[in-house]
Amino acid sequence: MSAQTPPTLLKLARQALLRDETLDMSALDKLPMVFLPKLFNEALTSRHTTTVKAMVAAWPFPCLLVGALMKTPDLETFQAVLAGVDKWLRRNFLPRRGKLQFLDLRKKYHEFWSIWAGVEDGDCSVENQDEQQVVKVLPKYALRQCLKVVADLCLRPRVDEEQTCFFQWAQRRKGSIQFCCMKMTIWIQPVHVIKEVLKVFHPEHIREFELNTEWNMFMLADFAPCLGQMRNLHKLLLALVSKNIFKIGNRTTDMEYKCISKFISQFSIFNCLQHLSFRRVYFLRNRIKRVLSKQGWRAGCLMTPLETLSITHCNISQSDLNYFSECPKLFQLKHLDMKGVGLNALDVMPLRVLLEKVADTLQSLDMKCCRMKDSHLIVLIHALSKCSQLAKVSFYCNDFSMPILRNLLKHTANLSKMYLEQYPAPLECYDDFGYVSTERFTQLCAEQIDRLRAIRQPKRIFFATHVCPRCGERCVYGRRFRPCLCQRRRQ
Ligand SMILES: [Zn+2]
Repeated sequence: MSAQTPPTLLKLARQALLRDETLDMSALDKLPMVFLPKLFNEALTSRHTTTVKAMVAAWPFPCLLVGALMKTPDLETFQAVLAGVDKWLRRNFLPRRGKLQFLDLRKKYHEFWSIWAGVEDGDCSVENQDEQQVVKVLPKYALRQCLKVVADLCLRPRVDEEQTCFFQWAQRRKGSIQFCCMKMTIWIQPVHVIKEVLKVFHPEHIREFELNTEWNMFMLADFAPCLGQMRNLHKLLLALVSKNIFKIGNRTTDMEYKCISKFISQFSIFNCLQHLSFRRVYFLRNRIKRVLSKQGWRAGCLMTPLETLSITHCNISQSDLNYFSECPKLFQLKHLDMKGVGLNALDVMPLRVLLEKVADTLQSLDMKCCRMKDSHLIVLIHALSKCSQLAKVSFYCNDFSMPILRNLLKHTANLSKMYLEQYPAPLECYDDFGYVSTERFTQLCAEQIDRLRAIRQPKRIFFATHVCPRCGERCVYGRRFRPCLCQRRRQ
């Protein structure tokens, strides 16, 4: 049996400090800076709330990236962090070292902690580093005059104790601390709640905004001025999640037109938007140009091209699709997602023009459930074959025959970056009543994959049938054949 290595003096010192319930800011202020990150990490993980509170108040670096260490929610420890900030605000002595300027509550990794993770007992290599070198890895925006607190917020109908506690704390301190939310996600909340939140976390700091809502158009219009203040948005998702949003009757009233117009007019201020997503947005039809157009932009502003355009489960018109080929904002797209957008009645030539424009940038294309037929795909094949960066493509749930699918696959020979490809089962697999012949399906798919292997090595390739009307599942042919539930039961 090997003898246990005795704890080092550093470890013993840390253990003693963690046990010390009377630890205060002035005592911590005298400890070497290099000693504190590891002590803080241990105090947090072992929930020594007294030490956590004292250490936040005495933190010697300008920046405290505490969210990175708090991935598992623990209300008591979180409250100790906030109490530490209060103590710091009320401090009655001048710290010997730099003051805290930036508290980051976002639960994301930061290299600051990885550097200190290496400081194990007996390993003093990092401890000997120049303190200034370590401060250099902290975010530049940490160097500021007043304390800034950064957090990501996800507001859900279910009460999140930690978030509620934080919001109530922030509301009472909004005069003395600058609060900043980089990423805000909203799930089904009343407009007035979001307006209250935005009084504390000013909209202009938000970089990513996700609104999943059942608001009707009058509520959306009421919220429009708040959206209009988010002028630094990089990413925006609007998803209308309830049936309530559908208008009553067939006609849109003048008032409704005005509300939609007020909401959409806010889009002209998003000068740095890179990722734009709409899901089930019923009022998008005939308004895509208005949403994407640079009209109304401030003179002299450079146009940021979109990297992602996602318009899913929306109803669009021919004039909407025509604008795809004319809008320079789309000409550097990396990701195009049109899942669930019915193209069966539209001329897809503008889509072909867009694919030609983005041939050097497009990495993923999702055309699932677009109700396309052979006549649509044939227009797109040549342009698709030129999209050299394409790594992910899905055409599930479209109606293509065997010859046209064969033609498509033949034209993918040069798409060497392709990683995941999903194609619909050819029409020849279905009988007159729309039921799949599994034998025919597996035979035709195997044939296609063999033909493809002769020109290119596919990595992950799948063929899938329409959803089975009896069990709601698809039959999928990939590395092996997976029948739908009722076919599996029959076997
Ligand atoms: Zn089935």
